[in-house]
Amino acid sequence: MQHTHEILEKIKTYQTIILHRHMNPDPDAIGSQVGLKEIIRTNFPDKKVLATGFNEPTLAWMASMDSVSDEEYENALVIVCDTANTPRIDDKRYANGGFLIKIDHHPNDDAYGDFLWVDTSSSSTSELITLFALENNLEISPEAARLLYAGIVGDTGRFLYPSTTTRTFEMAARLRKLDFDFAGLSRQMDSMSFKIAKLQSYVYDNLEIDVNGASRVVLTQDLLKEYQINDAETATIVAAPGRIEDVTLWAIFVEQADGHYRVRMRSKNLVINEIAKRHGGGGHPLASGANSYSLEENDQIYREMQEVAKNK
Ligand code: AMP
Repeated sequence: MQHTHEILEKIKTYQTIILHRHMNPDPDAIGSQVGLKEIIRTNFPDKKVLATGFNEPTLAWMASMDSVSDEEYENALVIVCDTANTPRIDDKRYANGGFLIKIDHHPNDDAYGDFLWVDTSSSSTSELITLFALENNLEISPEAARLLYAGIVGDTGRFLYPSTTTRTFEMAARLRKLDFDFAGLSRQMDSMSFKIAKLQSYVYDNLEIDVNGASRVVLTQDLLKEYQINDAETATIVAAPGRIEDVTLWAIFVEQADGHYRVRMRSKNLVINEIAKRHGGGGHPLASGANSYSLEENDQIYREMQEVAKNK
């Protein structure tokens, strides 16, 4: 309660509020960022509220970003949503405002900001933004509800992951009461393009699974070109190996244009973010990301995952 109250007091103090979130955004990043923007705009119509960052084409159905000038940062309140560490903040001007707030649910390894609200027990940052609105009796518009609901669904795998709590359902229920196109949104989030469906088939066909359920697949640049898939679109298939009952933890190694690998790691219940941290990454205990710079490092990361699976 105290955190949300203090954030509201800061919002009241500033005339311009600029909202940031992480690079390579997912539905929770955009849902929390633009959901908060909508809430502030609805309740404080005289304030200038802007959302900045790259317009991710695969999430164009959620929202588009504003264009923000350098001058607008002068004496602005900057709020960064859903971003664990400063290198991952989209738009480096986040430090140019008058006051900086971090709102997040990732482990707080990089405690940046003048004021922080970090709750690792929360399923998503969108859940926190919903709580912020409710605790302060702020009005939530149908559009804000749509964005925040999408964020919660995105980060919980539609209420599948262990991070889903009673509070998650309570927040989702409060959002569901508002008049947005729930069926359309649910369908949108469950849909994939035909080319992604084909890539998913490739993943299932080529998945390596060891006796303890440690699993991996590599998506090379050649393969991504053949399937006409860009890096961002691989997000849609990251959860796919988890549907196999034998799989306990898994990594999808996505080769980048410069030859290094973005490693997308997931786990059903064994902690994997320590492995990610050893390889230039981090994230949640059960959903992390790392970077690998050679085939040897790919093998090393997989061996470390196999160790975790073996010692369960
Ligand atoms: P992804 O597979 O990219 O969806 O990432 C899963 C989780 O790991 C997200 O919560 C990210 O915040 C985190 N993550 C991914 N890449 C990195 C990185 N390079 N450094 C720190 N955290 C990361």
